[in-house]
Order: sequence, then structure tokens, then C-alpha cells
Amino acid sequence: MDSGKPSKVQKFTGHWSQGLLTSMDDPELVVKSDDRAVIIKDKYPKAKHHFLVLPKETLPNLKSLKPEHVDLLEHLEKMARHLVDTTDKTLKFRYGYHAVPSMSHLHLHAISQDFDSPCLKTKKHWNSFTTEYFVDSKDVIERLKKHGKVEYDIKENTALLNNDLRCHVCGSAQKNMPALKTHIKCHSYKVES
Ligand code: AMP
Ligand code: ZN
Repeated sequence: MDSGKPSKVQKFTGHWSQGLLTSMDDPELVVKSDDRAVIIKDKYPKAKHHFLVLPKETLPNLKSLKPEHVDLLEHLEKMARHLVDTTDKTLKFRYGYHAVPSMSHLHLHAISQDFDSPCLKTKKHWNSFTTEYFVDSKDVIERLKKHGKVEYDIKENTALLNNDLRCHVCGSAQKNMPALKTHIKCHSYKVES
């Protein structure tokens, strides 16, 4: 019978796509946890600060969400915002989910908008964080409240990863990743005061 308490995550580790489940227990990566969720550092950060917030309840992906998970999603975002407030208040961040994640177990990305990282290498990396493929946490929560489920079209969203490269701040077209990475240095990612 469902006790209503979050169950402990069932761990079927081994395949690369299950790596987050292993990382949730890695003291080198865990930065914060409470009774409902764990925050880890992304192992291949795509910006100066890049965290993943994972619920302790077994929830493989957005499709596993049910209406009763609204409160949990709000908690994940709140936890991430609190961590950022105590880590680096000066940089702009976004909080959101990949419409078509590659890794198993639901995870909220909290990522600073400088995208200053050697791990950010490919067009797919770039477009996964700067097109509608990256869905703001608020929008996911709204969708769950409205429809009682969260589903994104795989084909439509995967196609976004092949979009032409554009700066996420000014929208200018960039011919390749090195050009893009040079260009984005000209913008400020500081929170406006
Ligand atoms: P996605 O599934 O597309 O939302 O993104 C998965 C994220 O997990 C990426 O940002 C990866 O850099 C990150 N990642 C991949 N493997 C691991 C791991 N073993 N531990 C922590 N982060 C990881
Ligand atoms: Zn620009």
C-alpha cells in the first residue's frame, strides 16, 4: 500500500543512462540533500555553475509525473534557487528540464547563463540549453497543473538540437562553436541590480 511517503529510489545502475543514480550517492558530487531531493554538481558542467536536482522518489522522467507531484516540482525549484542564493547571487541562472533528457531519473537543471565551460562543446549541447528544448521549471509546473501530465513531442524537440547556432542574448547567428564561444564572452551575465 502507498504510505504517501517518498519511496527510496530504485537503483538499476550499470548503463551510462543510469549514471545520475550513482552520482546521487557520490559525496564528491552531492552538494545538498533533504528528505525529498538531492542536489549534485553536473559531472560535465555546461556553465560556470551547473547543478542537477533529483527527487528521492523513483521518477524516471517527466512522463512519470502525476498531478500529486506539483508540490514536489515546486520543492525542487525552491531548493535549487536557495542553493544558488547561497552559492553565487551575482550571476543569472535558469531552472528547467530538457524536453527529451538523455539520462534517466527526473532532474532539474540549475545553470548559470554564462555557458563558460570547456564541457560545452557541441551544437547539440548549446541548443539543448538555449532553445525551447530547455523548458523552464515554471512552465513544467503549469503544464502539470493544467493537464495533470507532462509530455513533449520527441521528434519536434529533437529537431531543435539541429537549429542554426544563435547567441542566446542578442540572437546573432554564429558560424560555428568556437565563434559562438568567443562571441558570448562579450555579454554580461550578471544579475541587474
Ligand atoms: P539531460 O539528461 O539531457 O537532461 O542531461 C543530463 C545531464 O547529466 C548532462 O548535463 C550531463 O552533463 C550530466 N551527467 C551525465 N552523466 C552524469 C553523471 N554520471 N553524474 C552527474 N552528471 C552527469
Ligand atoms: Zn550576442
